[in-house]
Amino acid sequence: MKTLADIDFSNKKAVIRVDFNVPLNDEFQVTDTTRIEAAKPTIIEILEAGGSCILMSHLGRPKGCQEEFSLKHIVGTASDLLGVNVKFVDDCVGSAAEAAAAELEPGEILLLENLRYHPEETAGDEAFAKALASLGDVYVNDAFGTAHRAHASTAVIAQFFPDHKCFGLLLAKEIASVDKVLNNSEKPVTAILGGAKVSSKITIIENILDKVDHLIIGGGMTFTFIKAQGGSIGDSLVEDDKMELALDILKQAEAKGVQVHLPTDVLAADGFANDANTQVCPINEIPYNWMGLDAGPDTREAFAKVVSQSKTILWNGPVGVFEMESFANGTISLGEAIVAATENGAFSLVGGGDSVAAAKQFGLAEGMSYVSTGGGAMLEMLEGKTLPGVAAILD
Ligand code: AMP
Repeated sequence: MKTLADIDFSNKKAVIRVDFNVPLNDEFQVTDTTRIEAAKPTIIEILEAGGSCILMSHLGRPKGCQEEFSLKHIVGTASDLLGVNVKFVDDCVGSAAEAAAAELEPGEILLLENLRYHPEETAGDEAFAKALASLGDVYVNDAFGTAHRAHASTAVIAQFFPDHKCFGLLLAKEIASVDKVLNNSEKPVTAILGGAKVSSKITIIENILDKVDHLIIGGGMTFTFIKAQGGSIGDSLVEDDKMELALDILKQAEAKGVQVHLPTDVLAADGFANDANTQVCPINEIPYNWMGLDAGPDTREAFAKVVSQSKTILWNGPVGVFEMESFANGTISLGEAIVAATENGAFSLVGGGDSVAAAKQFGLAEGMSYVSTGGGAMLEMLEGKTLPGVAAILD
């Protein structure tokens, strides 16, 4: 896997695909700087190696050149965070971009205007990719959040740098974390899959069944399994058309020697609301008109025990409706168990959507070994797919 250390950046202009798709408020101020900070190590390392950085990114989904999606809004924040005065050019290709890139000196950073002002970006247009490539000497992809897209700047561009392309530090870390969980893992390996629906996790389950010792199933998708086994689930979330599939997963897991842990009790509510009435009941005896919204106390304890005995842990999806305080405790206690296991030497990866949000919200993220920065991209890696942005560098 080619990374920064494999390339001589001295006096080179590195065209870096970063993910600066950051949220802005009504006054166009950056409200969450995580993504800029995540790209910082790569940028600084290249500058310190004597190179210059030409940063390209998208911001939102503009229809044409809509000013509200201009990357000029983030120049100040990026300059502060990177500690370097970031230059900006109001197009990502064409004469202005070429002139700005040509003038760039070692140690300097140039940010190009939103790639998606040009429809050729998402279309994966080769001529557009070539125009972007012409701006620099080396291509670095550090945009994990878009690595699952075959866009001009994330994948197509790489062919113009056959010997001068590499992964940025962030992208390399994301790939290495998944590899550590799924291919080079220390046993026992536990995957925790929660979230709303079986249907959105099925490909992940199929991919990991050969790689894990324990599979913990929680959250809304539990009830499809419980109903398929003949349990009463009241008004809980269910996908009736996935019940066969749920039973098949359990069969496959048994055949492969994977221990499946389903909840045994649940915190049920008489409405989908934070102030609903609640009661703890067996997972397969949820009363009519009640719905399971969080893991029950026995389940929390059982899940924590499995986690505490694991050496490798993958967590994808909350085990309750954590957005409501009344139903967040199952997810919090699971997160705390993962943090404790990590302190005891386990490797833990949190990735792919809402479990990342939960881990951050409850202050658990720092206690995990790695918290992924890309939702869709992480899901696709866990599904066993090779991301176009990754394949293009490996090619
Ligand atoms: P996902 O994006 O598939 O990981 O699903 C995350 C969502 O699942 C979150 O918004 C949770 O509120 C939701 N969720 C978790 N447990 C339940 C449950 N028991 N019933 C309904 N929704 C749930």
